[in-house]
Amino acid sequence: MNKGKLRRQKKVDQAILLKGINFQKNNPEPIEAMARQLFSLLETAKKNGSVDEPIKFLQSKINMSLENVETKQLACKKGCSHCCYIWVSATAPEILYVSKIVKRMGPKTIEKIREAHTLTKDFDFETRHKYPNPCPLLENDVCSIYNSRPSACRYAASGNAEICSRAYHNLSEESIPIPTTHIRGSKAYSLALAIALKKAGFSYHAYEFNSALVRAIDTNNAQQAWLSGEDIFSGIMTESIDIFSDKTAQNFYQKAF
Ligand code: SF4
Repeated sequence: MNKGKLRRQKKVDQAILLKGINFQKNNPEPIEAMARQLFSLLETAKKNGSVDEPIKFLQSKINMSLENVETKQLACKKGCSHCCYIWVSATAPEILYVSKIVKRMGPKTIEKIREAHTLTKDFDFETRHKYPNPCPLLENDVCSIYNSRPSACRYAASGNAEICSRAYHNLSEESIPIPTTHIRGSKAYSLALAIALKKAGFSYHAYEFNSALVRAIDTNNAQQAWLSGEDIFSGIMTESIDIFSDKTAQNFYQKAF
């Protein structure tokens, strides 16, 4: 695509995403637009050595989408943190973004992350729910990085807190009544981010949060190393499902670029 066409495409994409991805409409265009916008920001990130812009853009669009969602059926409220006791995963740029924040929070926070990692490092996605353990960034039942939390945490929602209190603490096998809007929203943004990461030549997998945070904290110049192509999260557990094993995801990728 020549520069003129790219500029026009960018304007169209910005207009499509003015209020974030609209999940009510069964329309693939916003996901493709989001993937292109994120890809462009990731390419700029490679040059300026910071993941901040793509992650802030992602977070702002998710916030916009969530603002438009009907919240009456949600049981979630400040101080309710059952979903912070299970497996949490996030993509590499989200982890790098959070790692910079926790480093600024100081040695006590970093120590908490190391302790949590020691307790959870042997559990994969399937077994982790049997061993509930609070996220190290949870303080007095409130997320200490709320405005910067990973996308997976933004879409953790439920219509029934009592079911959460049993299911997330390994007291029952009940399914969490997650609103459809949140399931669809989570899928849409995960797909757009995975497409952008793949196109930019990065791993698009979501890594286990505690292990990946420790790796980012312990790696010299982690952000610059990752942006220059070093696989700094190599060997860390990822979610077992590969998003691109689905034909729909492959089609979205082809259509976006
Ligand atoms: S990052 Fe925040 S919202 Fe996510 S699991 Fe940890 S404490 Fe909960």
